[in-house]
Amino acid sequence: MLRSEQKPFEEILGYLEGEKKIFILGCDGCAQASGSGGLPQVLEMRERLQKEGKKVTGQKVVDFLCQKALVASGLRPLEDRVMEADSVLVLCCGVGVQTAAAMIAKPVHPGCNTINMGGSRGEWQGSERCMECGDCLLEYTGGICPLTACSKGLRNGACGGASNSKCEVSPEKPCGWELIYKRLKEVGRLDVMKKFVPPKAWNKMRPRPEMLSTSLWAIEQGDELIQEGVG
Ligand code: SF4
Ligand code: SF4
Repeated sequence: MLRSEQKPFEEILGYLEGEKKIFILGCDGCAQASGSGGLPQVLEMRERLQKEGKKVTGQKVVDFLCQKALVASGLRPLEDRVMEADSVLVLCCGVGVQTAAAMIAKPVHPGCNTINMGGSRGEWQGSERCMECGDCLLEYTGGICPLTACSKGLRNGACGGASNSKCEVSPEKPCGWELIYKRLKEVGRLDVMKKFVPPKAWNKMRPRPEMLSTSLWAIEQGDELIQEGVG
């Protein structure tokens, strides 16, 4: 499970500056279980945005936003509403935001941070990866994670070493920053590349102390069993 929590509302509003019409996407998988992007949170976000004068063109909670086939089938009947919006706000982990950004030809904003639970999890077929960094940067990178798509985890642009669009560190991989540039160009948001992204608070990539005493942590460590007679 990828655990996530909503970003502060003011931060989200900042992302939406200059945009009037928003479509909201939630996830009925990990984000629902985290209480960050299930139906109640999507409806609450809709109300808060409307109070701020935004028009919400529609909303959808997809079963698992990390699964492209489910995103496609879930959004097909709502295509008009998605296309009417200036952008899409995604309440989900970093993988779901990346999946939505890869599939929707609109600016996509991350509404959540993915919290570090230690170790790696959530391996699947798609190419989108999240390192649970606790401070999602996808707003500035066209919905492509600079920590996983760039071999050096660069936050403010390419290193300049790419050759034929391949990474100088891992020549079998495309240069992540070239992908980011192309995506931002496609959605008309090259302006965000001019924003300086400050150095990362790497301590956010450690599980928080309060997390270590939760039942969720115990389950992940294998310390809690589901057995007959236990509710
Ligand atoms: S920036 Fe990357 S690693 Fe950090 S939460 Fe977003 S997708 Fe995950
Ligand atoms: S070539 Fe591209 S992906 Fe590779 S380290 Fe440099 S910027 Fe990152």
